[in-house]
Amino acid sequence: MPQAHQINEDSLRLRKLKQKQRLILTRKKIGAFCSYVFRWEQQRLHDKWHEFADKHARALIFAPQLHGKTTQMSLVRPLFRLGQNPNRLLKIVSCNDDKAVDILGAIAKTIEFNRRLNEVFPDLQPAERGTWTKHQITVKRDSSSLIDASIEALGILSTAGGDRATDLMFDDPVDFRNSILQPSLRKMVKRSYTATWLGLLVKGGRVTYICNAWHYDDLTHDLKNKPNFHYNILNHAISEDFSHIEEWMGSRRPKRVRRLPLWEKQWPKKRLIHEAFEERGSLDFNRAFRHLAMESKMFPFTRGLQESTINMEEDSELVDLKPSPDFPRFTGMDLGSARKGGAQTAIFTLALDPATLTRWPTDIRVGHWSGPDSARELLAVYKKEQPFAIFVENNAYQGTLAEWIEEIEGGMELPIFGFYTGSQKFDLEMGLPGVALQMEKKLWKVPNFGHGPSCQCAVCQWREELANHPIGSRDLVMAMWLADRACKREGEEPSIRFIGGSEEEEDEEVLERAF
Ligand SMILES: [Zn+2]
Repeated sequence: MPQAHQINEDSLRLRKLKQKQRLILTRKKIGAFCSYVFRWEQQRLHDKWHEFADKHARALIFAPQLHGKTTQMSLVRPLFRLGQNPNRLLKIVSCNDDKAVDILGAIAKTIEFNRRLNEVFPDLQPAERGTWTKHQITVKRDSSSLIDASIEALGILSTAGGDRATDLMFDDPVDFRNSILQPSLRKMVKRSYTATWLGLLVKGGRVTYICNAWHYDDLTHDLKNKPNFHYNILNHAISEDFSHIEEWMGSRRPKRVRRLPLWEKQWPKKRLIHEAFEERGSLDFNRAFRHLAMESKMFPFTRGLQESTINMEEDSELVDLKPSPDFPRFTGMDLGSARKGGAQTAIFTLALDPATLTRWPTDIRVGHWSGPDSARELLAVYKKEQPFAIFVENNAYQGTLAEWIEEIEGGMELPIFGFYTGSQKFDLEMGLPGVALQMEKKLWKVPNFGHGPSCQCAVCQWREELANHPIGSRDLVMAMWLADRACKREGEEPSIRFIGGSEEEEDEEVLERAF
């Protein structure tokens, strides 16, 4: 029917027209570009970052961790800028070369294979001359006098290949390693920012710097607090009650702030609360999601480590501390497999001098063990140390641990206690200052074998976890804390339950043997 034919033709034309309009919009608006090319649901806070970066020649943006900083500012934004003007010279500066390589790999793959990007910016193509390396790519451009790569991605402490940049894009250049783990790198990062990177910027060039807070004395905090760096500052932080994102400008939070919605799909209130109280603890959450930088006094074990450290020969072992064999032993075990994120299982045994209450570590072991292997390690510790009590974080895996031990040893009974607290991590935060204080009073023997910064032996891991707490992994700190609780069991009684048997008689028998 001619009528229907007419309508079909019209709808086809209409669709083509709509598509054409959509493409025009995606070439102008980065939010539209992002949702069309990547099909991501652009969040309000993402739009805000781009608006801010468009508006200010130097934009410093504090954004909550794991909220899409890198995809927005190091993938979407460089592609959009280069699509609009292929003559731009971009430098993406990250905390290390590995991350930079990942970022550039994602950009390169998108230019080569994303059909939608090709629709929006058909001219954005690999250059015919020049090679693509893992640090540099060059696209087709109309100015043949340009020598620098179109995009170069490097770690902040690297040396730039080219010597000019129209856009400097810093993406979390400060990280745990170069701000806290190795404090001496803080100065190098600052020097590198000024000497290596800022010098590349051409007249009229633009700088974006998106980040989390780390330390009070790092590059980020210089940029934030020293006006001579000339940054405009945007802050997005999770509100105190976890119900929205707060927005403010400048280096200080004013009384009145703007409210933005949470990223509901990725970070609903419930997940944020879990992250704050179960996963990280409030200090680290406040740093990563609210931009409160750490200062030295926030690391509770700094002084305790100084006071309790015993310097020993490089080839020494814990046994060389020579605690009396008569001191009773206590063991703590943190079952890593129960937690996500590849946590290790850690077993920590200490000897308690009943006269002075000094704690001597006698056996520290840690590893990515399977369940049965964890049980085997615990059995080995039991046979070697004969601890009076073994405290195990009480979680879903603990019951299984008992089964594994039974399978291995045919029902051998170990004095294992499940340690119940309302919220384990919260209690850990409350309990650790006590251990820190014991260390300050020299009530611990903490050996230092002088193994060097990259050593992964159990003692070095323990020292590193203590030094960095509350940031970083806490497998051994957790096991140490459980061992300490085990030897303090006469005091404030934790809710204790036996595992491996449900009969009351059995429990009493174990109780007698254990104490
Ligand atoms: Zn070591």
